[in-house]
Amino acid sequence: MFIDSHCHLFYEDYQNDLADVLARAVDSGVKYFIVPATNHKTAAQAIALAERYSSIFVAVGFHPLDLNEYTPERLNLIDEMSRHPKVVAIGEIGIDYFYDRSPREYQKEIFSRQIDLAVQRDLPIIVHTRDSVQDAIDIVVRHAESNPGWKEGGKRGVFHCFTGSAQQAAELFKNQFLVSYPGPVTFKKGTMSDVIKVIGLDNIMVETDSPYLTPVPHRGKRNEPSFIPIIGQKIAEILQTTIMDVEARTTANAIDLFQLPIQSE
Ligand SMILES: [Zn+2]
Ligand SMILES: [Zn+2]
Repeated sequence: MFIDSHCHLFYEDYQNDLADVLARAVDSGVKYFIVPATNHKTAAQAIALAERYSSIFVAVGFHPLDLNEYTPERLNLIDEMSRHPKVVAIGEIGIDYFYDRSPREYQKEIFSRQIDLAVQRDLPIIVHTRDSVQDAIDIVVRHAESNPGWKEGGKRGVFHCFTGSAQQAAELFKNQFLVSYPGPVTFKKGTMSDVIKVIGLDNIMVETDSPYLTPVPHRGKRNEPSFIPIIGQKIAEILQTTIMDVEARTTANAIDLFQLPIQSE
């Protein structure tokens, strides 16, 4: 089985057919879903989904493009929600220099504050970056070094939609972070496949980032978790291995990172 390690199933895009979307995913071998919230409201929505579907697990936090929703009181709400049994991470959090929707220093400050919460709760983080990979690496490494007990013996988080270099990935792996890859691995342009060739399967996961980043040949349509095997197949081709190998390793990595109370098949 596959796990979709990042899909925003609370969006309106799915409100009329989520049961069908999940059934199609299961039919294509995608059995569990990590749903990262983007603010305190979508966190509550994501938790409601997780209470309805045993296959859904949740991350709670403020996305760097949603910092207009952020207040210290609302971060306390996130702290409370993080105690829910189906919350497995703080996320998605990070910094985004592409849209620059809030000042960069402010983004870094709120990112750090949310990592502090993850450290206190001893949870892993789901990190969003755009044109900001190295700054985000510097911030997480600083937190990892000053908190050696954070997820001791386990993994501390994932950089999702990873666009960094193999060298940057190596720095993350050394500090117990993983990276994950979405639909754009199937695009002709881009450097993801060169990086994957170097880093292999030890520390990677697959994700759709639904409803965004739809893989070829469905590009232009709404994305959904049932497309995960397309990404797995592409990674198998890049690494000249089997899709079963990619499936087994990425699923084991997701279970390990999020400490999911499930068995890999
Ligand atoms: Zn993101
Ligand atoms: Zn996302």
